[in-house]
Amino acid sequence: MPLGRYMEICNAHYYAARDPLGAAGDFTTAPEISQMFGEMIGTWCADRWLQIGSPEEFTLLECGPGRGTLMADLLRITKAIPGFHEAARIVLLETSPVLREKQRAALRDHKVQWVDDLKDVEALNAPLIVIANEFLDALPVEQEVSGAQRVVKFEDGALGYHPSGKVTKEYAPVREAWTVRLCNLLKDKRGAALIIDYGYEKGGGDTFQAVQKHEFVDPLTAPGTADLTAHVDFAALRDIAKSVGIDVLGPAGQGRFLHDLGIGLRAAQLAKNANTEQCQALDAALHRLCGHDQMGHLFKVVQFTA
Ligand code: SAH
Repeated sequence: MPLGRYMEICNAHYYAARDPLGAAGDFTTAPEISQMFGEMIGTWCADRWLQIGSPEEFTLLECGPGRGTLMADLLRITKAIPGFHEAARIVLLETSPVLREKQRAALRDHKVQWVDDLKDVEALNAPLIVIANEFLDALPVEQEVSGAQRVVKFEDGALGYHPSGKVTKEYAPVREAWTVRLCNLLKDKRGAALIIDYGYEKGGGDTFQAVQKHEFVDPLTAPGTADLTAHVDFAALRDIAKSVGIDVLGPAGQGRFLHDLGIGLRAAQLAKNANTEQCQALDAALHRLCGHDQMGHLFKVVQFTA
């Protein structure tokens, strides 16, 4: 089968069957590192809502919300914005039943609805504010070896790549089609989207990878038990948005983006009521989220507005 089909089947099984996040799981994401991440995304959402004239009703859509941590932190911080909570219809795009349960628990104090697909948002007639952290990397990619599409084949008792050899091209038709649909939705409803993920603006190459228990593993052994991802081509996202007539800001490094939103001030504020150990944890989280050698550069942020 084509590599993309393999990735799609494996990930559907992988996410449906487990909560992969955190120290005891396979990988850790920014919202799970510190509440400050979701708080900064919350300030971005509030700013966007104010910029579009504080509509009395809007859709706040998160794609791939994991444990619901980002949304919970975002909602706690935006309580300070008069009218924001009353106006927000919270929608979570999530296919995993296990993670839906986690999200339900994390957001039990809020009215939330779930959807399986972007098309379920089409019927909601209100401005749209969308966030997606580490969602697009999970969507399938295809690869070529010297012009031939790479497939995964079961042969002599094991899975292998055909043709073998160096990957000469990687592309993401599902991710691109998804981005076109997102941009058309934004154009139709007006609003904004913030996409955060690891990826590149130039280069790329073979970025298909599998992670299990915080280590890289072979994507072809034990299918459906490791997280299969690929780096996001941010230049492609930007070009898609522009071709649909959407305004684009970025991509910017996650470190720069969070600093510009005031994460340093927030850390200092939290440190005021913290003991020495908690202060060290805050410093460590700040470095992990923003450090150039950590998530600050590899992780990128792009904003779409319409
Ligand atoms: N945003 C969260 C979780 C990232 S993990 C965080 O930052 O912690 C990827 C998330 O996307 C999970 O919630 C997973 O179930 C969801 N997901 C992956 N593929 C999906 C698909 N095709 N459709 C809908 N959700 C998907």
